[in-house]
Amino acid sequence: MTGSVAEVSRDHASVESLRAKYAEERNRRLDPRKNEQFIEVTGEYRHFVDDPWIEAPITRGSIEEVVEALVIGGGFGGLLASAGLKKIGIDDIRIVEKAGDFGGTWYWNRYPGAQCDIESYIYLPLLEETAYIPTEKYAHAPEIFEHAQRIGRHFGLYDKALFQTEITSMDWDEAALRWTVRTDRGDLIQARYVLTASGPLNRPKLPGISGISRFKGHMFHTSRWDYGYTGGDANGGMTRLADKKVAVLGTGATAVQCVPYLARDAQHVYVVQRTPSNVGARGNRPTDPDWVKSLAPGWQRERMENFNAIVSGARCETDFVADGWTELFSDMLTNWRPEDGRELALPEAMALMERADFQKGEEMRAWIAAHVERPEVAEALKPWYGVLCKRPAFNDDYLPSFNRDNVTLIDTHGAGVDEITGSAIVCNGVSYPVDCIIFATGFEVGTTTNRTAGAAIRGVGGELLAGHFADGPRTLHGFYVHGFPNLFLLGSGNNAVKPNITDMLAEQVDHLVDLIAKTRAVGAKRIEATAGGEAEWRQIIVAKSQGIRAMHAQCTPGYFNAEGDIEKSWSANTYGGGALEFSALLNEWRERGDNAGLKIS
Ligand code: NDP
Repeated sequence: MTGSVAEVSRDHASVESLRAKYAEERNRRLDPRKNEQFIEVTGEYRHFVDDPWIEAPITRGSIEEVVEALVIGGGFGGLLASAGLKKIGIDDIRIVEKAGDFGGTWYWNRYPGAQCDIESYIYLPLLEETAYIPTEKYAHAPEIFEHAQRIGRHFGLYDKALFQTEITSMDWDEAALRWTVRTDRGDLIQARYVLTASGPLNRPKLPGISGISRFKGHMFHTSRWDYGYTGGDANGGMTRLADKKVAVLGTGATAVQCVPYLARDAQHVYVVQRTPSNVGARGNRPTDPDWVKSLAPGWQRERMENFNAIVSGARCETDFVADGWTELFSDMLTNWRPEDGRELALPEAMALMERADFQKGEEMRAWIAAHVERPEVAEALKPWYGVLCKRPAFNDDYLPSFNRDNVTLIDTHGAGVDEITGSAIVCNGVSYPVDCIIFATGFEVGTTTNRTAGAAIRGVGGELLAGHFADGPRTLHGFYVHGFPNLFLLGSGNNAVKPNITDMLAEQVDHLVDLIAKTRAVGAKRIEATAGGEAEWRQIIVAKSQGIRAMHAQCTPGYFNAEGDIEKSWSANTYGGGALEFSALLNEWRERGDNAGLKIS
């Protein structure tokens, strides 16, 4: 797509009307309670997060030990961190994981149809190291979970793991230069280094709908799918739903994947929509054995970097992945720029980007209209917000599900469910009797590290990490915190996010273990962000996040903008220069070798 301001202004009327439509839709969806509209899964709701996958609870006595490194979380982040530590010669590791196995997201999320939405050849980490090739371009959840287990076995991590165990507190011991870590099983672990990889989306959230606790039917969250109730497994076959009316609350990436399976198996499915998702083509296919034979060593890193460059707005001659993500980001970030690389003035660039966004939005709405037979349903499924305001979904079966007679879309125009009674959901003033309510309502984002890691983390002088982060994360590079030595935070707070999260985690791990290896080599035992280093990074974050913050302030509410609470949102605390610029910054920092912003002793 190419264009100029002249063309944009020729189309002024439609640009103006789209702007007005997007603003109207956004305002309709704003809930003054912001993040407070959700219920924390504690107390009477605690059973929503019980582990349905445990066959037999692990019984063991508590342990007391001193280790070199503790890794919190056994998802891909924790696995990469543990493998990275082993690569630099640290074998004295302990991994603490609340689930019954490795896998993280893929341990919990076993709902029917669960699948990676980033291509599996770049999403599944360490493929070359473990000599594994996924069976499909977008592998399904059981295969991804098995890969997590494969990594665990390959790097000898099962012996290091304490499963079904949660950290309850972590205290920095200045005399010993170690963290004292306690768990809910009475363990006492002293660790020189702690790496947290507890995942940004690990706490399911429930909508605070009036009457939710009065419902007499069955309820569960998608991340704890109840196959005992539905029958079947991740491939579907949920025969026990044949005589059941099921309501699915939510239309995000999870609902998009599980609704087609429910549509096949349930007597009736009500899909309750507040805000529609953009749903593009998936085009999954089995892995081509000839392509596998053609792969040369280093292929996975090359493919990951190519994908990351394209979705970061770089022009690349080759597009290895060539899917909905690379097409979308090329259209949104790259194709409207002059081919000669000339920099555009900001107003022109912004006008062209807005035009690209509107055009992409129109294309996606046309795609919906082409796949949904009933025009009024197609109309209700069309999203009216910037394409990058919410994570887009890709699925070939979701939209056609609405052509079935046993599927009803309940569009609540941003309002959500009015009320839940003993036997029904009430939407738009109409009562719909249902046997089961499935919450596809997502996960907490932007709540305190304390809550997501489940622990009170106290640094130098007993300072609470939650207190340190009360006004948003304050770190150096997103990893190190002043007053919290030898604590390394993996994830997407306060640094740049890559859409391919596992690639982002791998890069962070490489960077951090390089630092740990170098400091160990000179006999240092304490690594801490300086107050100045942290303050300087805060200034950079504030300056760099202006663009993305302004964009998300205009966006329909969602977890990117803390339901419209932009100051508390992820976007206000991210490194807005993008993943390529952030990687370059880390490379340069490593090459300089002065450990700027850190005190190492
Ligand atoms: P999301 O947070 O994306 O979606 C939650 C849904 O629940 C939204 O549609 C939301 O509506 C809706 N909702 C919230 N409150 C109510 C209410 N009161 N009444 C009705 N609906 C309500 O969660 P998901 O679990 O879908 O996805 C979370 C993230 O997990 C994704 O963005 C993605 O990053 C990841 N994911 C990745 C997958 C993969 O393939 N790799 C697959 C699935 C998820 P509204 O939009 O109006 O707030």
